Amino acid sequence: MKRRMLLSVAGGALTGAVSLRGLSAAVQSVSSQSRRPKLKITDVRTAQIRAHGLQLHVRVYTDQGLVGHGEATDAVVGGASLVAGFRRLLIGQDPLNVDALFERIRTMGIFAGAQGGQYVAALSGVEIALWDLAGKALGLPVYQLLGGKMRDRIRLYCDSQTEDPDDPLTRQRIQQIKDLGFTAVKIDVDDAADPMRWDKVNWTASNAEINRMVRKVEFMRQSLDSRVDLAVDMHGRYDLPTAKRMAAELEQFKLLWLEEPVPAENVDVLADVRHSTKTPICVGENLFLRHGFREVLEKRAADILMPDVQKCGGLLETRKIADMAHTYYVPVAPHCVVSPVGTMASCHVCAAIPNFLVLEWHWMPRLELWRDFVKEGDIIEKGFIAIPDRPGLGVEMNEEAARRAQVPGTPWFAP
Ligand code: MG
Repeated sequence: MKRRMLLSVAGGALTGAVSLRGLSAAVQSVSSQSRRPKLKITDVRTAQIRAHGLQLHVRVYTDQGLVGHGEATDAVVGGASLVAGFRRLLIGQDPLNVDALFERIRTMGIFAGAQGGQYVAALSGVEIALWDLAGKALGLPVYQLLGGKMRDRIRLYCDSQTEDPDDPLTRQRIQQIKDLGFTAVKIDVDDAADPMRWDKVNWTASNAEINRMVRKVEFMRQSLDSRVDLAVDMHGRYDLPTAKRMAAELEQFKLLWLEEPVPAENVDVLADVRHSTKTPICVGENLFLRHGFREVLEKRAADILMPDVQKCGGLLETRKIADMAHTYYVPVAPHCVVSPVGTMASCHVCAAIPNFLVLEWHWMPRLELWRDFVKEGDIIEKGFIAIPDRPGLGVEMNEEAARRAQVPGTPWFAP
């Protein structure tokens, strides 16, 4: 109706200046879907890097020369083989149907472990590469495809790997974290080699171990500016009585969170810990897909969720997890140990979700590699990452630098 009116008005008013046929064609092209790029996936290749553990880089190639780049981590020891297995489900397909391809691969694997672990981590790398590709094909930054951005820059916390009060280098490293401008820091307190651990299998902490852990937190809290938030990670190793004691002991420090005080499998036990303490409890780096987070939310077992974008299912799956969390007024602080490529991918989701809290950064001991890893240089400025408006993820791997960390003997995006 609108078009007919427009053509009628135009036909009456624009005598000679613009032909009716030309205007009609212009209107047609504006309302037509024909500008959607037509692409086909031609190949999927991987490369392996060892930085913070093993990182699997995935590239998806197309018949138009566009290439998407994704990254997966942690549960990726067999990731290259899994991605090679996904290849037949991807080649010849339209890469812009990202969620359909994700669902196709996931449902094809329900008898092959697609509920979590390595299968989902490998799929996460593919999914992120597809979003990078979709952004490049459409000329839009990835955050735009995830709903648009709520913020222009992403707040990071520094996983310090520096918390031993007795290490003479510790103060120097803390000063470096301060100079880099971070507004939040995380330390690890679990220690398998603690000499006061009387049993090498059981993880009930002795009084001496509890005191050591509390002393670390106290030292770090006193070393940092009071405006800098502090989080503490127990790496899911300890048992229920230890978790409850630690959560209570640490209440005095007003932590940003206490992370994985017990292993990830039993959500009821995590809920016991959470309901026993004022210390906020954070969990999620060992959970997969929306299904892994549902029970945690339903049982009110955590104050903060930390999905690992490169492991839990990728960008859209993280957006869906964050949206579920938002209905429980639970903030999201993604776990992140990957290169600047994967970190920037995480930033696009963090930009798009309302309940983003803070994003992990874990490259303190590898600063030089971090700064060289992408052609854009160091993407961090004073503890924040600005979201680029370039198409796709907005960063490109610097191959020469990245190959310094290549796992020896592994293929480098070989056909
Ligand atoms: Mg952790």
